[in-house]
Amino acid sequence: IFKYNLSLCSSGQSNPTFYLQKGGQAFVLRKKPHGPLLPRAHKVDREYRVQKALFSAGFPVPEPLLYCSDVSIIGTEFYVMQHVQGRIFRDISLPEVGPAERSALYLAMIETLALLHSFDLQSLGLQGYGRGPGYCKRQVSTWKKQYDAAAHTDIPAMNKLAEWLANNLPPDDSEESLIHGDFRIDNIIFHPTQARVLAVLDWELSTTGHPLADLAYTTQFYFWPASIKGLGQGSILETPSFEELVSTYCRCRRISTTLSNFNFFLALSYFKMAGIAQGVYARYLIGNASAENSHEFAKVVKPLAERGLELSKSSTQHSTSGELFHQSRKGQEILLKVKQFMKQHIYPAEKEIIKYYTECRNSEDRWKKPPLLERLKELAKAEGLWNLFLPDVSGLSQLDYAQIAEETGRCVFAPEVFNCHAPDTGNMEVLHMYGTEEQKKEWLEPLLEGKISSCFCMTEPDVASSDATNMQCTIEREGNSYVINGKKWWSSGAGNPNCKVAIVMGKTKNSSASRYKQHSMIIVPMDTPGLKLIRPLSVFGYMDEIHGGHFEIHFNDVRVPVSNIILGEGRGFEIAQGRLGPGRIHHCMRSLGAAEAALEILCQRAAQRQTFGKKLYQHEVVAHWIAECRLSIEQARLLTLQTARKIDMLGNRRARKEVAMTKVVVPRAVLKVIDCAVQVCGGAGVSQDFPLAFMFAYIRTLRLADGPDEVHLSTIARWELLDQSKKLTAKI
Ligand SMILES: Cc1cc2nc3c(=O)[nH]c(=O)nc-3n(C[C@H](O)[C@H](O)[C@H](O)COP(=O)(O)OP(=O)(O)OC[C@H]3O[C@@H](n4cnc5c(N)ncnc54)[C@H](O)[C@@H]3O)c2cc1C
Repeated sequence: IFKYNLSLCSSGQSNPTFYLQKGGQAFVLRKKPHGPLLPRAHKVDREYRVQKALFSAGFPVPEPLLYCSDVSIIGTEFYVMQHVQGRIFRDISLPEVGPAERSALYLAMIETLALLHSFDLQSLGLQGYGRGPGYCKRQVSTWKKQYDAAAHTDIPAMNKLAEWLANNLPPDDSEESLIHGDFRIDNIIFHPTQARVLAVLDWELSTTGHPLADLAYTTQFYFWPASIKGLGQGSILETPSFEELVSTYCRCRRISTTLSNFNFFLALSYFKMAGIAQGVYARYLIGNASAENSHEFAKVVKPLAERGLELSKSSTQHSTSGELFHQSRKGQEILLKVKQFMKQHIYPAEKEIIKYYTECRNSEDRWKKPPLLERLKELAKAEGLWNLFLPDVSGLSQLDYAQIAEETGRCVFAPEVFNCHAPDTGNMEVLHMYGTEEQKKEWLEPLLEGKISSCFCMTEPDVASSDATNMQCTIEREGNSYVINGKKWWSSGAGNPNCKVAIVMGKTKNSSASRYKQHSMIIVPMDTPGLKLIRPLSVFGYMDEIHGGHFEIHFNDVRVPVSNIILGEGRGFEIAQGRLGPGRIHHCMRSLGAAEAALEILCQRAAQRQTFGKKLYQHEVVAHWIAECRLSIEQARLLTLQTARKIDMLGNRRARKEVAMTKVVVPRAVLKVIDCAVQVCGGAGVSQDFPLAFMFAYIRTLRLADGPDEVHLSTIARWELLDQSKKLTAKI
């Protein structure tokens, strides 16, 4: 073998691979790495065996030529195969080709994967190649053991993910196909000019097991954490889409496009990637890794594990046949319970609760909660219908919650009954994501228990607050305290006597920093001296007692301990970004429920009343309004669900454009429905006898309160231009 001209042709993390040349002939040699190895890893004899079987069956692999177990020749076992001439794409976004060719190459890749999974193990002569049924269970325990053996620091997300996987194994874990184990575009040699797979490489991790594990692994880059760059997998593809790839795979295998438990396989993929990264780093530490950048692998283990955990919570079914918005079984169960609760307890309580607020309007009790509402809260809590908005507490995805929130949005006070009401939801998210252990104990726990409520103080009367860099309220450090001075208004919920804490945004002195690093958020107990409720603000004449009102609050030398700062000085915008995520589309989800309620009122009225000899709905213009309302609701709901799904899959940051679109589209659609309902109800529609006037006032504020439409439109345009420029670069 030493007569050959040998050069290293791959810097992969697994078996070192060499290019061999003799005269006009080219070969590839793969060998075990030197040094101590993880158990069961780097079995080149298995690679040789599986390639031989597949080559004989006509599957595209390099023809294996010889296997040598004699370690005296080059120091380890090795095998030699034919060299295949063609294209290998190292960057998964395939920047070398245009979108159409990229799509064709990816589809060829996925068809090849489907072909691999279609082989019968017996006819390949690979009986006993794997270890029999129970692949997923073994994968979880093998990667856990390998991870534990290689771990250099404690990563709680990795342990949580391992636990979730072990407890959520798919019921069809006995399914067995030949699987590759590392099926990626950079393990494929394509024809030099055509979108055709010539050879699939690197069979080190091949075995028999559940084919969806391969599919999830191959498509996992669609969900790649944005924080990990520079390891060759930083970008998601516009074309082909995830759905296109998966539906092509299902078509080729003639299986249903509804993939049960796909979230398990995606989570498993991320677990495995994190385990691999940890292994590479461990090898680097002992000086035994084959790639130059192996020291960087330590940094990626945590974000990979965290993404795996997020994916584990996403919808348990993925469908590519139009049923994109499947709720998990848990989501469906809770939705059903919420619907029953609404029917049994909420709707029957509506009259009494509205009466309470009407009668108390001019008394001191106006800001207090009606006793019936408190009883309903206890009941909901006892039934486990509590804090459903927070995925880490409820175990629900945003997609699950979207449909539940819509249900609760049908009645104005229902979200509070389930402890899912603004602004407490946003504040709880902030404390959950950014609070210290002490802050969580003191404020988050009682909020989650519904013992106290809170308000959020950002907007100021003296400056245009849609640009939050304008905030003038100051938060100045003096010894062990921060001193707050300034005016805030529109602090929703501050009138509620149970509102015990405010999260206040203000300017900390740091003029040298960027505009986005000068503001901070701080926790201020409402009974701190110097904090004064000045007046409630009306919304189209309503004082909105149900939501605890919207108050102007002044802060005069309000002093709180330094430990009350959230996340640190100058981190206010970072927190605001987090707060602007899922919490903010919860409004949209709920308002769709209001639209459904309004359309119901419209239709009932149109069927009851008669003008000029026919029922209102028999006038074609009214019938068309009904149709238009239904169109608006369905369109707005689809966008909301799509956004929820994207947040689940890719996180808040990657769903920013969709979040902004949802915030513009939904209030517009809902207002249109309420407006039609008002029109059909005539004078009654704007009176206190119908909820429509209050609904209109409340939903109209969403076009301001959630940030003005214009700001969202600018965000959408910015992202659209960026997306278009990416497409253009790809074409060039
Ligand atoms: C019912 C309700 C509840 C609220 N609850 C809270 C709360 O709990 N806590 C809190 O801090 N705040 C709350 N707010 C305040 C809300 O967040 C602000 O009203 C909002 O951010 C807009 O700020 P602003 O009122 O100062 O309007 P401004 O910033 O003065 O903007 C006025 C108008 O200028 C236009 N505009 C602004 N920017 C642009 C742009 N980039 N391009 C084009 N036009 C633009 C828009 O038409 C906008 O409506 C609430 C508001 C309402 C109505």
